[in-house]
Amino acid sequence: MLLEVSKLTSAYAGLVAISDISLQVAEGEIVVVAGANGAGKSTLLQSMIGMVKPRSGQVSFAGERIEALAGHHIAARGLAFVPESKRLFPRLSVADNLRLGSYLHRKKADREAPLEMVFQLFPRLKERLAQRAETLSGGEQQMLAISRALMTRPRMLMLDEPSQGIMPKLVDEIFDAVLAIRASGVTVLLVEQRLAESLQIAERAYVLQTGRVILSGSAAEVRSNPEVRRAYLGI
Ligand code: ATP
Repeated sequence: MLLEVSKLTSAYAGLVAISDISLQVAEGEIVVVAGANGAGKSTLLQSMIGMVKPRSGQVSFAGERIEALAGHHIAARGLAFVPESKRLFPRLSVADNLRLGSYLHRKKADREAPLEMVFQLFPRLKERLAQRAETLSGGEQQMLAISRALMTRPRMLMLDEPSQGIMPKLVDEIFDAVLAIRASGVTVLLVEQRLAESLQIAERAYVLQTGRVILSGSAAEVRSNPEVRRAYLGI
């Protein structure tokens, strides 16, 4: 397994937000973590990379414990994270935001190599290189946040609700991009409320409810679960 989360529990001021969560992601997979608002999806991602300090449990990436490492050490090991808030530099240009993603690499050629892929994935970013990030639409900002993460040349990308608050047309582009990213050899952990669309591109899924995994399995298994069909797929 590339990523292995074992019995992870986190709390805010005594209130448990995720409880005893275990999950695995194999190299080359797209795995989705789904759940309603407040189910604990963001807390799970943030606990994996030490942005929230877990109360107990372990997280291994490529065989190494990471939950207590500093963010830049985690990035250097090949795990990139795109938070829900995107964390772009609003006053900087698209080009500069991308450059800041490539800081890990010393050689210019290594810093510039991922640009080709980014422009292929999101041609509209190439047209807007000189534009300030704050002037991009919500969907374009999401594309930039994903692209900046790709500039680190990660082995695995974790995305926190990339489709949130963006136009339906761009949502399709983002999901297509996730498929293309995987095709380029990057493993993906996708946190999403849009379960139907996510199950179309993912191999496996975990469904969270009030901080616990209530269901996991292949995309087909999760899609055919009666509870999921009723609560998430509106069938
Ligand atoms: P959403 O889809 O709305 O982002 P989520 O599934 O990502 O939801 P979390 O944001 O992880 O859920 O929240 C899980 C629980 O933890 C919620 O009850 C939330 O109110 C609580 N919580 C999240 N962040 C904090 C915080 N910084 N301080 C206190 N409680 C928090």
